[in-house]
Amino acid sequence: MLISGIQPFTMLDYPGETAAIIFTAGCNFRCGYCHNPEFVVPELLAKIKNNFIPETAILNFLESRRGLLTGVVVSGGEPTIQPDLLEFLKKIKNLGFKVKLDTNGNRPEFLRAALAARALDYIAMDYKTSASAYPALVGPLAVAEKIAASRELLKNSDVEYEFRATLIKEVHSDILLTAMQEELAGAKRFFLQQFRPGITLAAAFGAFHPFSVDEMEEIATKFRRVIPHVAVRA
Ligand code: SF4
Repeated sequence: MLISGIQPFTMLDYPGETAAIIFTAGCNFRCGYCHNPEFVVPELLAKIKNNFIPETAILNFLESRRGLLTGVVVSGGEPTIQPDLLEFLKKIKNLGFKVKLDTNGNRPEFLRAALAARALDYIAMDYKTSASAYPALVGPLAVAEKIAASRELLKNSDVEYEFRATLIKEVHSDILLTAMQEELAGAKRFFLQQFRPGITLAAAFGAFHPFSVDEMEEIATKFRRVIPHVAVRA
């Protein structure tokens, strides 16, 4: 496991649980609006690799938090590119924690294996755009069929899950939002996140704009026609 950081405590990132967040290094996407390029771009990752945290240190920390925390969030970067992720999740589960995975959904084969192994209690999958528009937004390693497969896997799973999207005015046209609405119809939960301009992986995205909170609420209303729980995270 390549672990770039840990947040020892959160009450915001795992619904209903007090949790720690573990951040893995590296990602198979290149979202222009990514706010953490230092954890994504290999040349930037190389500069901080001496600060990576050994897996044993993470597990020792979690051992010391048994009875104090109830959950662990494994986030990124993109955790599913780590070859030993499933074993790592099982070790966390064996310590008695519930496990939430944050993923971009490009590796449905991992999600299938992790669900079969009962290694996950909650999955938060980004649903960044309409499946067919993924490569244009996040780069050539995104595969529309894999995004769609992960989406359907979650919809049909008995595990708790959410989809979430960061909406950008210059990207998320009415046509795209309507396509996303059709693809996500029947999902349990969808969270709309407001884009924050600032440091971004591609400089051009730093000048892009968020929707206003009122506009986000208007978009949420449309998604509520097909998804029972939709909320705006401003
Ligand atoms: S999937 Fe997440 S971590 Fe990876 S580039 Fe996109 S925003 Fe950044």
